[in-house]
Amino acid sequence: MTIIYSARWVLPMSAAAIEHGAVAVDGQRIAGVGPRSEIVARFPGARVESLAEAAILPGLYNTHTHLELTALRGYLEKEENDFFAWLRKLTIARLERMTSDDIRVSATWGACEAVRAGITCVADASDSGLQSMLALQEVGLRGVVFQESFGPDARLAQENFEKLKVKLGELREQESELVRAGVSPHAPYTVCGPQLELIAELALSEGFTLMMHAAESEAEDLLLREGCGVFAEGLARRSIEWKAPRTSTIQYLKQVGILDTQPLLAHCIRVDDNDIETLRETGCSVAHCPKSNAKLGHGRAPFAKFIDAGVLVGLGSDSVASNNTCDILEEARFATLLSRVGGAHVSAEAAFRAATFGGQLDEGAAADLIAVSLNGVHQTPDYDPLATLVFASSGRDVILTVIDGREVYRDGRVTTVDEDRLRARLNEISEKLMR
Ligand SMILES: [Zn+2]
Repeated sequence: MTIIYSARWVLPMSAAAIEHGAVAVDGQRIAGVGPRSEIVARFPGARVESLAEAAILPGLYNTHTHLELTALRGYLEKEENDFFAWLRKLTIARLERMTSDDIRVSATWGACEAVRAGITCVADASDSGLQSMLALQEVGLRGVVFQESFGPDARLAQENFEKLKVKLGELREQESELVRAGVSPHAPYTVCGPQLELIAELALSEGFTLMMHAAESEAEDLLLREGCGVFAEGLARRSIEWKAPRTSTIQYLKQVGILDTQPLLAHCIRVDDNDIETLRETGCSVAHCPKSNAKLGHGRAPFAKFIDAGVLVGLGSDSVASNNTCDILEEARFATLLSRVGGAHVSAEAAFRAATFGGQLDEGAAADLIAVSLNGVHQTPDYDPLATLVFASSGRDVILTVIDGREVYRDGRVTTVDEDRLRARLNEISEKLMR
C-alpha cells in the first residue's frame, strides 16, 4: 500500500525545496516526490499522513560510531585529558567487565538513540561485530558493521588476522539486506604494518568495505613521524618493536595498501594539503567527528578544505563515550560553526549534505526519510528551512524516521523494540561498571 507523507517542506536535496510538498512511499521504495496536490492526484488510493509544520528530508547518515559503547556514555569524563588512559579504561570495561549480552543491549540502545535522532544509516565500528549487527537488525537501522581488528605486534600479525577472518565469516552469515559486514583495522597505533597489509588485501579480494581511525591525535602523529610519545612508550613497555615510517598517517596508510581499498577514514585532523590531495586521488572518504575531536582535545579537521577539494565527507558522532550524544544535526551545526571559527565559510547546505552523506529523496530510491518538526519555539519564525535545520534544530526535533519504507520511530516511540526493558538493563550495566 502506498503512503503519502506530506509536510510544510520537502527537501529532496536533488532539487529545490518544495513548499507544501509530499513524498509517496510504496513498500521499500520512494514512488514520488513533489508538490502535495500533484502527489495526492498521482496516487489516489494512498493513505495520506500530514506532518504539518515539519520538513521531510533524506535520512541522516552517521559515518562514524561505536554503538556497542553506548553504555559508556559519561563513564570516562575523568580520563578525557589523557587519551592513553581513556583508551585503557574503555578497553577494560568493554573486554573484561561487560558480558556479550551487555554489549548487545548497549548497541541496541545506541541504535534506538540513532533512529530517534533521524539517523537512517550508520557506519558502526565494533569489536563485537556480531552483537552490533544483531542490534541494528533488531531496531531496523541500515548500516555497515565494521569488525575491528587490533594487534600492534608484528610477530602476532598472522594469528590476529586469522582471528579476524573467523569473526568476519560469522558476520557475513548474519548479513541482511539492510546491514552489511565491513572490516576495520582499528588505528595506525594499534595495528602493525604487516597486519594492515593483510587486511587491505582481504578487503579487496573479499569485497569488504574498510573503515579506519586515521590522523586523530598528536600522540599518533608523534608515533608515526618520530617514533616517540605516549603510544611509543606504551609499545616499548610491552616489548613491541616499532619502526616509525617518518611520514604522516595518510602517506603511511598509502604505503601499506589501506588507501587502495578506498576506505572511510575517521577524523583526519592531522592532514596537510598533500594528504588531502592523496585522499582525493585515491577516492577515500572522510568521517568528520567535530564534537568528539573537540571534547577529547584532539583538534579540528579541515572540513571546508575536504569539501572544496571534492573529498566525500560525512559527519560522525563517534561513540557517546567521547561525545556524549549521537546527534548528526548537532554535529552539522558544530562542524559549520567550528569551520567559521577557523575562518573558512561552510554553508548550511554543505553541512546538511555532509549530514546525509550525499543522500537524496529520489523516485525509485530506498525509502529512507525523516521528518523534523519546525514548530518549536526555538525554530520560529522559519525563513529558510535548511538554515533552521542546521542552526536551530537537533535530533530531538525529529518526529518520524522511516527506513526501507518501515516506520521505526514515530510519535515519540521506537516501534521495533521494548525501550523500557532496554533502559532497565542499561541502568543495571551502569551500576555494575560504577562498582
Ligand atoms: Zn572511533
